[in-house]
Amino acid sequence: MSDTSPLDWLSGALRQWDARHLRRKLRVRNGPQQPTIVFGGKTLAHFGANDYLNLANDSRIVQAVQTAMTRHGWGSGASPLISGHTEQHAEVAEAVARFEQCDAALLFSSGFAANAGTIPALVGRDDAIFADQKNHASLIDGCRLSGAPISVYRHGDAEHLELLLQRSNCNGKRLIVTDSLFSMDGDFAPLQQIAQLRERFNCMLLIDEAHATGVFGASGRGVAERMGVESSIDIKIGTLSKALGGCGGFVCGQQSLIDWLINRARSYVFSTSPPAAGIAATATALEIVRQEPQRRKLLLERATALRDALRALGFKTGETESQIIPLRIGPADRVMEITQQLLEAGFFVPAIRPPSVPEQECLLRISLTYGHNETTIARLIDTLGRFTTAHGA
Ligand SMILES: *Cc1c(COP(=O)(O)O)cnc(C)c1O
Repeated sequence: MSDTSPLDWLSGALRQWDARHLRRKLRVRNGPQQPTIVFGGKTLAHFGANDYLNLANDSRIVQAVQTAMTRHGWGSGASPLISGHTEQHAEVAEAVARFEQCDAALLFSSGFAANAGTIPALVGRDDAIFADQKNHASLIDGCRLSGAPISVYRHGDAEHLELLLQRSNCNGKRLIVTDSLFSMDGDFAPLQQIAQLRERFNCMLLIDEAHATGVFGASGRGVAERMGVESSIDIKIGTLSKALGGCGGFVCGQQSLIDWLINRARSYVFSTSPPAAGIAATATALEIVRQEPQRRKLLLERATALRDALRALGFKTGETESQIIPLRIGPADRVMEITQQLLEAGFFVPAIRPPSVPEQECLLRISLTYGHNETTIARLIDTLGRFTTAHGA
């Protein structure tokens, strides 16, 4: 019998990732998501979660889930078209649609599933996709799964998009796909210009508001609301797992869109409905977003102050206009060194390396939430400041 296995190549491949400082390992977190985190027995200020409104461990939401669990039990038992679509799912889908001021909404088990299922349901080989270079992985995978030719335009560059639209000889449908708020850079897509191109070139426009839902816009509907272009958005994707503090994804738009996706989005049709109790969390989260606008207001005020302070210290934060603040460092080994020193000083700020960003464009991603108070933020600025003087940013 041979003592080799067909998987022997894995140990060599992992060693290579080690050598390039790219190997990722799971870390175990103790306790709920909150503004502090315990790693290896040490309590750290936690700047590494997308829980922007500090709702993941909100007692009202926890209570709502417990109540719903008593009513619905846990598992949903089947995919939605068979028997897994409960009254709770129907209610929350309606609440999402009302919140988003759309005809209808569809709930997915994750934002990733929403993107991976929606895009291939809309376009295929004879159509064309126009996609921002820095789109989220789930949008990229959705585009690839569709089989449609993909034209990638330079990040945030509407003029480049225009050029690609002009050059396109596609006779089928055209779909423009972009994050509204980019997950690593914290900057906005130029939605006003893109909306005009949609009109001029008769395209469908899909935006992903994963990091913006609950945070931007007067009512918290996201960047499209803030920029006043909601009537130009044909397909809007959001997640229940960032500012809304739970788990799941959604698509909203006109009724015919949702009816089509119910039939054709494979990640919806062929996947078990998320537990009703989990979905119930979303109804409460949306209610909190509606009733407590001070959460997003205060978060964005503090984010602006933090960005200004870090820029004044000489950090390269790029074009961010949001609660996501990248510190662009460059090489992976350097980023790892800084993140380690921050840990020692009591701060968890995750290092972002490939495949999340291109090689040599590694960064530290500060994710600010409503739960971070001014004292903690001031300490972070102070620590990073001492750090730049000692080592050069
Ligand atoms: C996080 C994220 C997703 C995925 O959402 P999940 O609910 O976490 O699966 C989709 N799009 C963007 C832009 C994201 O940042």
